[in-house]
Amino acid sequence: MDDLSHIRALVIDLDGVIWRGQTALPGALEFFEILDERKIPFVLATNNAATSPEQVGRRLEFMGIHASTENVLTSGLASAEFLRRELPPGASIYAIGEDPLKTALVHAGFSLSQDANDARAVVVGLDRQIRWEQLAEAALAIQAGALFLGTNPDVTFPVERGLVPGNGALLAALETATGVKAMIIGKPEPHLYLQAIAHLQAEPEHSLAVGDRLETDILGGQRAGMLTALILTGVTQRDALTSSPIQPNYVFDDLAQLSRALMGEIS
Ligand SMILES: [Mg+2]
Repeated sequence: MDDLSHIRALVIDLDGVIWRGQTALPGALEFFEILDERKIPFVLATNNAATSPEQVGRRLEFMGIHASTENVLTSGLASAEFLRRELPPGASIYAIGEDPLKTALVHAGFSLSQDANDARAVVVGLDRQIRWEQLAEAALAIQAGALFLGTNPDVTFPVERGLVPGNGALLAALETATGVKAMIIGKPEPHLYLQAIAHLQAEPEHSLAVGDRLETDILGGQRAGMLTALILTGVTQRDALTSSPIQPNYVFDDLAQLSRALMGEIS
């Protein structure tokens, strides 16, 4: 088995890695104990902009896992941080998204505008109550030159009855209407990972991106210059690896196997 004792920091996906639904995946509790014991810093990084660090923390707590909300980075928070470097303090933003995204933007010092007028940026995250008027305002602001940012590009997400439109589908509507491509902050673009690494004060080449999706988690990690580990408890089966151009540095059946590798145990 691989020896990962040279890894100094981890950036870890949630769904399909730590949990599935309300259930912790095998080895999750012990995995966090080992990170704590070995003092390996980590960030839990999710493309989901419709959740907050507090919600993630509560869900982990429910599973018996204690992690500080400071260790959670959503694509919404990363978008707000990105804009904080791009725009003057207090700039006006037109946001489509749920409360956690809007809260992140307000906490970053921006004012949320109700229409396209004066909006310096349009930020689009998943909004499960979107109306046409909101798409219209966003399109007008983009055409007037506002920066067009998407929290994450996921075109669908799973619910019990199947796959339903995700934020990528909302972005596609605006891209089609305006002819402008959104700038994406979440995986597979590197911004989310780069912010996580900066927070951890780590070097990308000694940091490991851990995820269950080749085309988002693993590709994003590679673009950020990190080492990558695929965990097979989520959407990717081992046989999908043979046909994919995206190849992780490491593959683990579950978190228990990753934990052993982090401890330098060769089995
Ligand atoms: Mg996942």
